[in-house]
Amino acid sequence: MTASRSASTRVPNKALGVMWKTVSDDCNLACDYCYYSTCAGRPGPKRNRIERALLDKTIRGYMENSQGSVGFAWQGGEPLLAGLPFFEEVVALQARHAPPNTSIGNALQTNGTLLNEDWARFFRKYNFLIGVSLDGPKQIHDAHRNTATGKGSFDLVMRKIQHLRNHDVDFNILTVLHSGNVDRPRELMAFYAREGFRYVQFIPGMDFQAQFPDAPARYLISADQYGRFLCETFDVWYNNGAPSMSERFFDDMLSVHVGREAGLCTHGRKCSQTLVLEKNGDAFPCDFYTSMERRLGNIGLDSLRDIVDRPAYRQFLELKGTLPQACIRCDYLRLCFGGCPRNRVWDSGRRASGPDYFCDAYRRFFSYAEERMAMLAKKLRTRWLHEYAGSGLPWPERNAACICGSGAKFKRCCGPLRDSGP
Ligand code: SF4
Ligand code: SF4
Repeated sequence: MTASRSASTRVPNKALGVMWKTVSDDCNLACDYCYYSTCAGRPGPKRNRIERALLDKTIRGYMENSQGSVGFAWQGGEPLLAGLPFFEEVVALQARHAPPNTSIGNALQTNGTLLNEDWARFFRKYNFLIGVSLDGPKQIHDAHRNTATGKGSFDLVMRKIQHLRNHDVDFNILTVLHSGNVDRPRELMAFYAREGFRYVQFIPGMDFQAQFPDAPARYLISADQYGRFLCETFDVWYNNGAPSMSERFFDDMLSVHVGREAGLCTHGRKCSQTLVLEKNGDAFPCDFYTSMERRLGNIGLDSLRDIVDRPAYRQFLELKGTLPQACIRCDYLRLCFGGCPRNRVWDSGRRASGPDYFCDAYRRFFSYAEERMAMLAKKLRTRWLHEYAGSGLPWPERNAACICGSGAKFKRCCGPLRDSGP
């Protein structure tokens, strides 16, 4: 059975998290579907990294408001352009400002091209979770992920991944779905298996600028293509009831089937409570919403508390729960929660929208996978019960919280399974 683990573009957490656009939109690749970078793979000679004073103030302020755990996500552009000394300073500041017993998480999303032994050693030492962008085998990857001169990056990325392996760094593969790979799910899954990539995540490609969130998004794949992709990929992932690979969306759906919440915001009850910070400290509610209209303040000038208390933040968070009628009536609402507000077409007042662009894909997948997901969930909960029974701990009272961590009462959750099983 798989476990979720990802340095995804969306940061899953219940408490407030921070995602930093480490070098603004500087990037050394010029992927043709990029929704953020504008430098066409030619970052200027001067590094665009966050100023030390701002870094210090933000980490201190965030730590002061932490409740035992903090999560940082480092994105770009290409965050490794900031250089290793920058990240050494980051971890030093985190250690200096962390209250005792604080758990610190760092996730970093990279195109992989700048990795080396020093980076890998550092990531291992500080337990960074690394996401590497890779769109599949060479021919697929190189069709979109190129340098400024048009050279494919596949060979380089694959060589660089070896550094992560050499140092046993946790990493996952993030694959953007586009016309070149969406119809080839089995080929993708075979490639990951061959390369020993056990943690993967797919995100449907979109062609829009996050700086203009009110302009309608354009998508690189249709809902029909995505639906077919999910179903076929699921067949491979399911592996006759014994999944051996973690795929983020499937893991999330399995979590919901066992009574927990989805980790990723798209199918969570709420949008991710992760502040997206630009290099200059400007704060935004999501990396799909980085227009000046959605700006929440500046972390160098405003306190974290002030930023999250702004009406603009509340208005953003309300978007997801403002569901169209189709969602309210939908049989799969508990699995989907209306998808992502960025994928809905809104009226001019932002008071009502249609369903998520990928609605048909979700429905098709939920229906296709439902029975097998339910079987996996039952198997998983039975295994937990056996493990619990073997631990020698007393069974919880019937009204106590369930041992599986769903938050439900034991008698309603795993209790019935126990009564008929271990
Ligand atoms: S709008 Fe909400 S659901 Fe969509 S990506 Fe942003 S945080 Fe996630
Ligand atoms: S599957 Fe479609 S209708 Fe159902 S909740 Fe998701 S977006 Fe809404």
